[in-house]
Amino acid sequence: MKDIETSGIRRAWALAQACEDPINLSIGQPDFLVDPSIKQAAIDAILQDKNGYTQTAGDDALLQTIHSRLGNQFGWEFSDTSHHSAMVTSGTAGALTLACLTVLDPGDEIIVPDPYFVIYPTLARIAEAKAVLCDTYPDFRMTAERIEPCITDRTKAVLLNSPANPTGVVLTQEEVDAIATLCREKEILLITDEIYDEFVFPPTTHASPASTNEDVLVIRGYGKTYGCTGWRMGYAAGPKPLIDGMLKLKQQTFVCAPSVLQHALVGAYDIDLSSLIERFSKRRDMVVEMLGDSTELVVPEGAFYAFPKIPPGHNMTSMEFISKAIQHDVLVIQGDVFSKHDTHFRISYTVSEDKLEHGLGILKKLLQ
Ligand code: PMP
Repeated sequence: MKDIETSGIRRAWALAQACEDPINLSIGQPDFLVDPSIKQAAIDAILQDKNGYTQTAGDDALLQTIHSRLGNQFGWEFSDTSHHSAMVTSGTAGALTLACLTVLDPGDEIIVPDPYFVIYPTLARIAEAKAVLCDTYPDFRMTAERIEPCITDRTKAVLLNSPANPTGVVLTQEEVDAIATLCREKEILLITDEIYDEFVFPPTTHASPASTNEDVLVIRGYGKTYGCTGWRMGYAAGPKPLIDGMLKLKQQTFVCAPSVLQHALVGAYDIDLSSLIERFSKRRDMVVEMLGDSTELVVPEGAFYAFPKIPPGHNMTSMEFISKAIQHDVLVIQGDVFSKHDTHFRISYTVSEDKLEHGLGILKKLLQ
């Protein structure tokens, strides 16, 4: 535990305690409400006494929706004798935790992107393994060319995240296919964290390496997509022996994902997300329009983050920059939380458009 740091995001929030009503561009949680149909289904499940344990892999009705979705997207089949299996997990983080503990032995290496989602290096550490950072600066594309030099004889897995936190970068089908091929050739497991799969802004589309490599471990979530991050719901799907390993561990730890919330999400895929995605896409445009001239900014094509560079002329660490932003009541996250580089900061555009405009106006002035 001494090796594990508390999230640097908390450091930023601690500084923000002094602000009365900050414009909070720091939270990785969308600002829309859970669809009434899903809320009602949760209430119904409680009233219908569906409050006990479910099977470890998840309730059949929800699993069925996952099977047919992945069947449609990748042509995967799910039966007792098929290559693939799926399980419902306690959040996407729960799936990532089970995956790392199942796959990694002490001393093993897992290649993760830099910048990364904060928990990736910690998960490797918990498994007594090592996260090898694949530097993706300055365009933040984790390509096969960048991954290959990171591979050693201890590499067990590559962890991919597209659309990415904290950059919003979305890889193309060619890019993910090249990574899938590389991993197949080197006999390395490819884990793909696709929690933001629905947050992709047209004309860009989401590309998964699972469409060309049947041995990929796909991890996805419900929290961001349906506005229910606190429900802790996600799923994992991949080769059966791997999922069976994760199930054993789940049986002895989390037991099952929250039963009522599994019932509640059975209808989730019927919800039309297009107007929501359009709204986030317009917010992305606002970020690019307002900050694009003042700083180096890779145009995000998905998720709800942007990762601008602090102009080197400012000669500031990212913590110094975000402290200044906080003094002006704008809360953003210092880039060194997500990276070994200390040159950028993260914006979450998960607030109303008028607040976003106000916050971006302040950031623009600070960046000039
Ligand atoms: N992966 C990524 C890339 C994330 O950004 C997050 C949450 N911020 C997670 C996983 C964890 O998601 P969950 O809340 O579903 O555990």
